[in-house]
Amino acid sequence: MKKDDQMQEQGADDEREGRALAQSLPAKPAPHVSLQGEGSWANLLTLLEVSPDALVLVDSAGRIASVNSQTEALFGYPRSELEGEALEALLPERFRAAHLLHREQYATSPRTRPMGAGLALYGRRKDGSEFPVDISLSPLLFDGTLHVLGAVRDITVRRRLEEREHAAREAAEARLALLQLVLDELPTCVYFVQGEEARLVLANRAAVTLWGSEWPTGQPMQDFLTAHHIHLFDTNGQALPPAAFATLRALHEGQTVFQHQEIIRHADGISLPVLVNAVALAPHLLAGLETGGGNRHISSAEPAALVVLQDVTSLKEAEQLKDQFIWLVAHELRNPLAALKGFATMLLRHSQGDKGTALASWQQEALAELDLAANRLNRLTEDLLDVVRLQAGRLMLHRESIDLVNTIRHVIAQMGQSSDRHQLTFSTSLSHLQAQMDRGRIEQVLVNLLTNAIKYSPDGGSVEVALQLASEWQEALISIRDQGIGIPQAEQAQLFGRFVRASNSQTQGISGTGLGLYLCRELVSQHGGDIWFESTEGSGSTFFLRLPLSQSTTAPSVSPPTPSSEGDQSTL
Ligand code: ADP
Repeated sequence: MKKDDQMQEQGADDEREGRALAQSLPAKPAPHVSLQGEGSWANLLTLLEVSPDALVLVDSAGRIASVNSQTEALFGYPRSELEGEALEALLPERFRAAHLLHREQYATSPRTRPMGAGLALYGRRKDGSEFPVDISLSPLLFDGTLHVLGAVRDITVRRRLEEREHAAREAAEARLALLQLVLDELPTCVYFVQGEEARLVLANRAAVTLWGSEWPTGQPMQDFLTAHHIHLFDTNGQALPPAAFATLRALHEGQTVFQHQEIIRHADGISLPVLVNAVALAPHLLAGLETGGGNRHISSAEPAALVVLQDVTSLKEAEQLKDQFIWLVAHELRNPLAALKGFATMLLRHSQGDKGTALASWQQEALAELDLAANRLNRLTEDLLDVVRLQAGRLMLHRESIDLVNTIRHVIAQMGQSSDRHQLTFSTSLSHLQAQMDRGRIEQVLVNLLTNAIKYSPDGGSVEVALQLASEWQEALISIRDQGIGIPQAEQAQLFGRFVRASNSQTQGISGTGLGLYLCRELVSQHGGDIWFESTEGSGSTFFLRLPLSQSTTAPSVSPPTPSSEGDQSTL
């Protein structure tokens, strides 16, 4: 639209609204100033001059009786050209007719009021240019006749600021609408929350599907969950206390919660496994969302968080299918493997004794290789079955009272036979150490770590196992140190993941599956313990195990270390 047309339209609006305004004015005349007597004209002129506003005194016929110098400056007319002119001379053409009507109405009901309150009024300079004005009118009885004193203020700057503010608000609303549009197109649930009780600031469409209900803006999370009978669980099916919700942890602790597994159960019993990422945000980042429909729930002082929830139902189903497949294959391999191993062992034994025909040495070596390969395959299938058991939460520990010192000695003795290039040592000051553990699983962890220590030290060297008490005899601390190839620093953080292998072990052609450390970590954590390592590439690694002796043990049945006791060191 052209500027002229816009102004024309604006004028028409002003006219309409102005009439409505005139009609709504109260009929009762307001008190007005009365000036009378000798010298009053001179006094009035002096008064007009001291005002910072442009003042226009209009007589009852609508003619300009006087103006002050601010009016001259504002409108660009010398006083002499204005005095005696109709007041409309100071208005743009399109306002004149409407103004005449107003003036007549005003004469019948004069009182102090802003002119065209709430409307966009314009003044017109001598050169024809227009500028926005604010005009307030006051009736004035001068020597017995009604005059009107108009105070005119140029509001160009104010109007510009208002326009800028309006434009900024519109731009912010457009950005918010775009953000909402983008979020609504995402398949994952995304929402922003603020405050200790996680009041909703903004959510996308996927959030409604995921929660099964619409979370109203401004409602605290717990109120929303309670109102819709929605419950959150951990992966073991235990109800999550609110303090453990990823959303609330991000808000309360200001930390980023990454890939937290939660299960959402709707009122109708439908359960959805989700992965939650909750990122703590600087509160001022949400300030831009305030314009959105007047979101009154945003404060720049309260903690805020961005939460992304991914429904992993289909991933879990695919994972379950894969686990079922692994289980089936590993299970089916067990019987033929057992036969292979059994016959290889039998043949070896018979050929060594005097029961059958003696075998040539190459035949004996082939049988020994067969036996070894069967052992390796056996371990692999058992590891695969354990992984599936762990994934399904079906790996149960059978705790019993075991002597940890003996268990370690036994495993080292077994492993020591597998390599003549490695020297396995065990040092401890304890003669025995009773603990409530699953013997088979602890042996499995130790065998895994010792196998690795040997396997990843291809040049041989010492493998030192040490056992000591920690945490005032509540825990056993086992370390296994090798002088092998070590683990590159950059890859250390991922090493306990499933099927993860360090690059140097592969470049050196050392075979493996990347399952052993994953199983070790799970088994140790089922015992309530921890596993970690220190390693320098090229110099070797030390793996540490911290195992609680038992949940109830206060004084374990041990030979406590004495300051003088020397480490009992044995080479096996
Ligand atoms: P695997 O040995 O069958 O590959 P693990 O899960 O036991 O699987 O180990 C994962 C990876 O960790 C190995 O592939 C290897 O890269 C690295 N690793 C484990 N133990 C050691 C060690 N003692 N020294 C060097 N690297 C090791």
